[in-house]
Order: sequence, then C-alpha cells, then structure tokens
Amino acid sequence: MPASRRVRPKPQANVARIPEIVARLDDAYGVPAWRPHHDAISELVLTILSQNTADANSGRAFVRLLEAFPSWEAVASAPLDELVAAIQPGGLAPTKAPRIQAALRDIKARTGGYDLQFLADLPLEAARQWLRSLHGVGPKTVACVLLFALGRPAMPVDTHVFRVATRLALIPQRAGRARMTAEKAHELLESLVAASDFYAFHIGLIKHGRRICIAQRPRCPECVLRDLCPSAVLYHPELASGGRRRQAAPGSKRTQK
Ligand code: SF4
Repeated sequence: MPASRRVRPKPQANVARIPEIVARLDDAYGVPAWRPHHDAISELVLTILSQNTADANSGRAFVRLLEAFPSWEAVASAPLDELVAAIQPGGLAPTKAPRIQAALRDIKARTGGYDLQFLADLPLEAARQWLRSLHGVGPKTVACVLLFALGRPAMPVDTHVFRVATRLALIPQRAGRARMTAEKAHELLESLVAASDFYAFHIGLIKHGRRICIAQRPRCPECVLRDLCPSAVLYHPELASGGRRRQAAPGSKRTQK
C-alpha cells in the first residue's frame, strides 16, 4: 500500500510477530538470563516502592528502609512517620508506607511470618490470587513477585512495556469502551506471549523503551523493529516513501492522557 494511503495501525495487528520481536530484541540486547532478583517479600516491598517513580529512586528508598529497620517485623510495626522518613527518596512516601505496612501485616496474619516461598509450590492461579488479595497489591506487583522472585510465568507490565507494546500494535488502545491501561494489559499480554518468553519479552521491551522507543519521540530510524512497527511512520514520516501527514500515534502523549 502506498504510504499516502496508510491508515493507523489496527489494534493487535502484530500479535503473530511476537516471537520475531522477542528474537530481534534478544539479538539487540542479549538474551536475558533469569535469576532471582530478591526473595519474595523484598520483591513485593520493592515493587510497591517503585510505583510512579524511577528505579534509581525506589532502589535508594529500599536500601534506606533496610538500613533503618532490622526485620520485616520492625517495618510492619514501625511508627508510620519513621517509615515515611526512611522511604522518602522513593517519592509518594505517605502513600507507600501504609501500603507496605498493610501488606506485611496481612502476610503475618495469614502465614504467621514473612516467608512467601510457599507460593512457588502453589498452582499458579492460586499463587496469583493469594498475592492479589493482599491489601494494596495490584497486578504489576503480583507479576513482579511471581516472575522475579519465584521464577513463575507472569508478565509485569510497567510503563515501558505498555508504551512499546501499544506502539507495536500488540495491545489495543481501548479495552471495551474504556481506555486500555497497563493494569488491564497484564492479562492480555500473558495470553499473547508464550510463557517461556515472558521474561525475555519483559526485559527486552524495558530495554528498548529506555534506549530507543522512548516516551517523547521514539528513535524509529535506529530501531531494529521498525519494519515490523506500524507506528514508525507516524513518528517519523520520512521513513515512508513519499511521506504522509502525521497522525496521533499509539502510546504518544496525544493518545495517553
Ligand atoms: S519503530 Fe519506533 S515506535 Fe516502533 S518500536 Fe521502534 S522505536 Fe518504537
């Protein structure tokens, strides 16, 4: 089709190309080898700290928390203002501190301690539901704990994964009558990507989103996926022979409020 007649990418037009996308990202950034990042409780707390902030900030907050409190019990029972002060570098501390304490207290009440390793042996859906029922724990935190700490097939969808997958037309911009969100995209992407590729897909899209498919103006001319990506000509009309007027591209500020 001539570039001038090209239309906006169809939602999920690229689903059949997911294995090719994963393979190209593996070539570009290396095949990521899974290794446990943290124990499950640490991963859960770190993921709560990472909400709406950069990894560097949440990492600093996590280190400060570990320095300030000798145990998870001490974190759970700490005066709220002390916990807020400890995790201040992570941002939104007054929101995250009670969330962390509520989750830890819930875990203690249900298990008698602070060890979530038993989730590795539960059926996957039961483990997912158990984590999801913790106070203040959403689908991204559940997926991070399952995948990163326990090595179970789950797909965390952060802002990079969501943006790149939307631009690649792997997920639609709407979920029924509502706008698609990263929260809603977890289940969808898990149904599209082979479970054995969850880790590589997640890591590959994050690296790509940080280096090439950046939020403001993606660097499509340098992208290893540009011939597969229906958004490339929307951001860089010069990539289409003859060029075309730019439309609002999926994942752009003009389509994500
Ligand atoms: S071609 Fe552009 S929009 Fe598409 S994945 Fe690559 S950098 Fe992102």
